[in-house]
This record gives sequence, structure tokens and C-alpha cells, in this order.
Amino acid sequence: MKKFLMILILASLTSTCFAFKEPDPERWEEIGGNDKLTVWIDKETLMINTEKSQQSEHCGHTYVTTWFIQHKHDEKGHNLVKVEADLNCRTLDFRYVAQCDENGEVTESQEAPRRNPTSVLPNTVGEAMILAIEDKKKAKESFW
Ligand SMILES: [Zn+2]
Repeated sequence: MKKFLMILILASLTSTCFAFKEPDPERWEEIGGNDKLTVWIDKETLMINTEKSQQSEHCGHTYVTTWFIQHKHDEKGHNLVKVEADLNCRTLDFRYVAQCDENGEVTESQEAPRRNPTSVLPNTVGEAMILAIEDKKKAKESFW
């Protein structure tokens, strides 16, 4: 019985691992993660803005918005996440999250009702995300 259970557990572990299909590398670049999570950045949707309102404390700050894929290793699907980064304040704001199943179909999605920027902590996935955003911004600017 124990042996049977062990085989069952192993089978479910491997099927979980192989059910996730890596995103198209032409579009999505793997930027890092940790033992629970892997993250990819979208190379095509980067938008760069500068805060122009004199009233804003962020006047002159550079905002970059783009999409990420986050895959938790113990799940078959993935999340598509729209993130706005303030490169001067080094904050990330998760604006939209869509949960996708193993076939890439959206099962649930939610737009953030208001801005909620949070500081990026050193040595975290968030830091890998903001570094990737800075990298892609530079690449886009030197391209033009
Ligand atoms: Zn700012």
C-alpha cells in the first residue's frame, strides 16, 4: 500500500512539472525566481511614461508598465500580471492579475481598483522584476 501511494505521489509530482508549458521565448524572457516561482517578462508591451503633474510628488519620475508571467511550481497554470514600476522610487504596483489554466485560458481576472505601489525589497523576485524592467527600457531606448 505504501509503495502504491509513493508511486501515486511521484506520478502526480511529475505530471504537475510537465503540465506547465514554458512561454514562447520569442516573446517572454525568463528573468528569475526562487524555488517556488519562476517569472518571465514580456518583451513586447513595455510602455514608458513620465509623471508630468507639478502637483504630484512623483513629478518627473519615470513609470514603466509591462506584463509578466508568474508560474508557481506547484500549480499547472500561471498568472499574467500587469505591473507599473516607478523607477525613481523603485516601487512596483500590480495593476492587473489574470489567472490562467494549463491551456492558457483565463479562469479569473482582476483589475486593481486603485494604485498601491510597494517598495522593492533587495534579493527578492520583485527586485529581479524591476531590474528586468530597467534592462528592457534601456534596450528599447537604444533601439530607437
Ligand atoms: Zn516616484
